[in-house]
Amino acid sequence: MTALLNKPETTSPGHGDAFTRNLYSLRYSPDLGWHGGTLAPMTDLRMHPATIGLHYGQVIFEGMKAFRQADGSMAVFRPYENARRFQRSAARLAMPELPEELYVSGVDQLVAADQVELSDDPDHSLYLRPLMFGTDANLMLRPSQEYLFLVMAFVAGGFFGDKVEPVSVLISRDQARAMPGGTGNVKCAANYGPSFVAQRRAQEAGCQQVVWLDAAERTWVEEMGGMNLFFVRGNGAGAEVFTTPLTGTLLPGVTRDSLLTLAAQHGYRVGESPVSVDQWRAECAAGTITEVFACGTAAVVTPVGRVRDRDGDFVIGDGEMGPVTGTLRSALMAVQRGTVPDPHGWLHHVR
Ligand SMILES: *Cc1c(COP(=O)(O)O)cnc(C)c1O
Repeated sequence: MTALLNKPETTSPGHGDAFTRNLYSLRYSPDLGWHGGTLAPMTDLRMHPATIGLHYGQVIFEGMKAFRQADGSMAVFRPYENARRFQRSAARLAMPELPEELYVSGVDQLVAADQVELSDDPDHSLYLRPLMFGTDANLMLRPSQEYLFLVMAFVAGGFFGDKVEPVSVLISRDQARAMPGGTGNVKCAANYGPSFVAQRRAQEAGCQQVVWLDAAERTWVEEMGGMNLFFVRGNGAGAEVFTTPLTGTLLPGVTRDSLLTLAAQHGYRVGESPVSVDQWRAECAAGTITEVFACGTAAVVTPVGRVRDRDGDFVIGDGEMGPVTGTLRSALMAVQRGTVPDPHGWLHHVR
């Protein structure tokens, strides 16, 4: 428990509170549309206690990173993908859809102004957090008319520490993250608060992360915490790399999509197929599943070493990061830092 009680040192890279000096904001109202875009020094918000976002959860967000390139310039990784996902999140919560160009322009302005705060340590990046919420001060149970879009940033280090240590996971048997017809496939704030209890239980069980199963059958592996999961079958060049399919209750990660492409480019057999916990355990015992990793913007690619479930633990491979995981992790980081060609145009260069 002490690890949980020890608050991390503040304003250090990787702990989510080394905020940069500015904040981008843009407002929406039915009359004026999107208006008043400004970049200004980071400040507290003033809001009425009846702000709709606070009461009814009309809050969506995104997560992206900007990376220092070899020539000293900055590039954001696939921001248009996030802009489109932000639109899907908005639509799901009856919020107005921010045009992609406005989304990316806000991000660009913040990155251009605050990139001075990013050292050239290649382990560091700027984590960008767009956020939008309903601002009406009105407690009627209906969507807000007016909205505030914000972009803030913090300097990020390695998410689970700077070394790539495999994480251990607890299968969540009694709590679910998402349900069919719900909001699991969008990034709304309301998906995350309810996950903290399961995450805490995982830590109390000696694990670092929670693995979510599908809510209907409690059989199929969906995600790990706030990251998508990949499985590797076999070894070497003939290995098969697959991830769980986007059933509507999984968040379609940009990292997930990028790794599917990179894995195919590296010659692995690539696919999307459902995995049950029983199958995961049996295939680890049989040695057919050789590696498992989680992926997302914050922690990039993180190997999973051990699984704890109601009927005992099992180890994946030798419990260490496997070669396919390492290859894909390096390949993604190389694209992000501009040290290899970018045939898909994933880097958005900030002028
Ligand atoms: C954000 C998120 C991911 C990862 O998405 P990326 O676009 O790769 O950062 C995966 N699962 C959940 C639940 C998420 O919130």
